[in-house]
Amino acid sequence: MELWFTEKQTPNVGITCKITRTLHTETTPFQELAVIETLQFGRMLVLDGMVQTTVVDEFVYHEMIAHVALNTHPNPEKVMVIGGGDGGTIREIVKHPKVKKAVLVEIDERVIEVSKQYLPEIAVALMGNPKVEVRVEDGIKHVKEHKGEYDVIIIDSTEPVGPAVELFSEDFYKKVYESLKDDGIMVAQTESPFFNRDIIKNSFTRIGKNFPITRLYFATVPTYPSGVWTFTLGSKKYDPLAVKKEDIFVDPSNKYYNAEVHFGAFMLPNFIAEIIK
Ligand code: SAM
Repeated sequence: MELWFTEKQTPNVGITCKITRTLHTETTPFQELAVIETLQFGRMLVLDGMVQTTVVDEFVYHEMIAHVALNTHPNPEKVMVIGGGDGGTIREIVKHPKVKKAVLVEIDERVIEVSKQYLPEIAVALMGNPKVEVRVEDGIKHVKEHKGEYDVIIIDSTEPVGPAVELFSEDFYKKVYESLKDDGIMVAQTESPFFNRDIIKNSFTRIGKNFPITRLYFATVPTYPSGVWTFTLGSKKYDPLAVKKEDIFVDPSNKYYNAEVHFGAFMLPNFIAEIIK
């Protein structure tokens, strides 16, 4: 008998993967958590039926959410991730030579523990890296209580449902602004330009109300809805397009991000550029 997993991504579209087995399922206080073994994408982390990351394509999202902002800031010493309990974004952050401290603020401890157990190649930096501090806490509460502290804040959240709804609000972006130092930078994952045009438009407008420099960029992630994914960067001082190419740090292990991609990701096809006009 063949086993298949389907994520219904919109009322009319889904992604279906052939799977060999389910490695783990549980109901946490926040969400339904599962890890399944797919044939095409390897192990897959699923929350509330939605694909969060897979071993095969995770590098695109995690490199792109981390390195663009880290290379825009001249000295990203203290960095925070809100969400991101699988550890992939933190793994990328600690590659950057200027980072002294990376703080993970994840609301659901079970996502962290299950990722360490079943997705060690993604969660590796959560297992004793001296630069990393893991805090099981609501990101909204954390930014309210930590003002002027971070060089870079990365919002690696679930879709805007459940505990993540507020992570897309104007008030939250204001708190993120206040939690950054005077020259800080934030970046948020802002969903698909095919299916979530309103989310992109609203996030871009809301981030733009707080940050003088706001830019949208994109990457291709096959297991995310439509395969094209956007990120919105808000910066108090530094423009990602004004970075000197020769100053860009590219770790030898990177599989997606490099100095050309840093700039190319901001070159928007017309249908994406239209969203933020
Ligand atoms: N890369 C993923 C994506 O785009 O689908 C997101 C990955 S990560 C697993 C998302 C995490 O955000 C989840 O583990 C969830 O528990 C966490 N999260 C949601 N709301 C949160 C909040 N208010 N504070 C901290 N973490 C939150």
